[in-house]
Amino acid sequence: MNEYDSNRIYDVAKKINYKRTTNLSETDCYVLNTCHIREKATEKVYHDVGRIKKEFRNKKKPIVVVAGCVAQAEGEILLNRERYIDAVIGPQSYHQFNETIIKIEKNQKKVNSTNFDVIEKFDTLNSIKNTSNKTSSFLTIQEGCDKFCKFCVVPYTRGQEFSRSIEEIVRECYELVNNGSKEITLLGQNVNAYNFKGKNLSDLIFEISKIKELKRIRYTTSHPIDFNPDLIEAHQSLKKLMPLIHLPVQSGSDKILKNMNRKHNVEDYLELINKLRKAKPEIEFSSDFIIGYPGETEDDFNATLKLLKEVEFINTYSFIYSARPGTPAAKLQKTDETILKKRLTVFQKVAREIKMKYKKNLINKKSLVLFENKVGKNNEFFGRDEFSNSVIVKSHENLIGKIEEIKIIDGNQSTLFGTKKNFNKKNFAA
Ligand code: SF4
Repeated sequence: MNEYDSNRIYDVAKKINYKRTTNLSETDCYVLNTCHIREKATEKVYHDVGRIKKEFRNKKKPIVVVAGCVAQAEGEILLNRERYIDAVIGPQSYHQFNETIIKIEKNQKKVNSTNFDVIEKFDTLNSIKNTSNKTSSFLTIQEGCDKFCKFCVVPYTRGQEFSRSIEEIVRECYELVNNGSKEITLLGQNVNAYNFKGKNLSDLIFEISKIKELKRIRYTTSHPIDFNPDLIEAHQSLKKLMPLIHLPVQSGSDKILKNMNRKHNVEDYLELINKLRKAKPEIEFSSDFIIGYPGETEDDFNATLKLLKEVEFINTYSFIYSARPGTPAAKLQKTDETILKKRLTVFQKVAREIKMKYKKNLINKKSLVLFENKVGKNNEFFGRDEFSNSVIVKSHENLIGKIEEIKIIDGNQSTLFGTKKNFNKKNFAA
């Protein structure tokens, strides 16, 4: 979502003649768009600001803006502690970016823009074209969360659940497709809680699937309790809807799930996985896991390992629990870090083995890859298959923006290597 937000901030800033640059040492304005879910996010902000300060020690000071969820959660503290920061802009206020910059340019004092005005934000953004010209683009359709998992800051930094109108989303989809996007990932903190005047996520997906030049649709991140039968049906009947579902579970222990206030248990979760597999047998799953949530015993951890093995997630994102200031879980007693590190190592070893087994299975099989960009110097193109696996292929023709049938010939943890059907190696320089 931060990538989407950063692009939209750029679309807004263009109106006051700012351009994106890769030449950091000559920049006039730095925007650090932050994510509070990351560990030590605030320290990273101070570290980055320190880097900018050093770079500009003998030059004119650039404008420094901290945007995103760290700005929302700790804006006033940031402004008071680090004088080099000129403004903080929360995730629901970045439509006020230009106003903020103009105030700073006019030598006004520090600006704190952390209102929760998501309706006003999208009203403003709807009048500004989305200029992303990537083959694969993100599009925010929903923001915020009403679930209040005890470890999570999102309900406090992004606010209540809010869904954009289908009309606005379809219009933005057309903008992206007209700029060359072939794949769109619909984003939301609780994307499958999407509800605009009674229309749910599957209604929206069916609507945008009518856009002829849009070839692939994905969505993230889902909550198990919001996964309704319509969405399962959409997976069964819509070829454009990709068969990888990111479905965070966090723990395989009912006790821990209850303590986290996740609102589902392991049985519900497995039942949902089975329903989806029945509807579309080739479907695969990825998930998020918190290892060592306060109170997690060895038995709870083993239950998580059991779930990992049972579902055989093709991708997992696992972290040792770390407290986020202001969340209810932050007050709980943490387990000894040495024990948690051991558990994480065990978990990640099993997850890696499952992933390698899955990847090995793909070798010598056909795969449909949408190519996004060129990498390296040897006519190599990077793309993703239907399950979001990274694939690299050599080709003498430009593959960017094309969906090609590829034979997978090799692979490692992170990347698969493939060859185009009828690929003629003689056409290549070594
Ligand atoms: S459902 Fe997701 S975003 Fe909402 S509180 Fe729980 S972890 Fe955070």
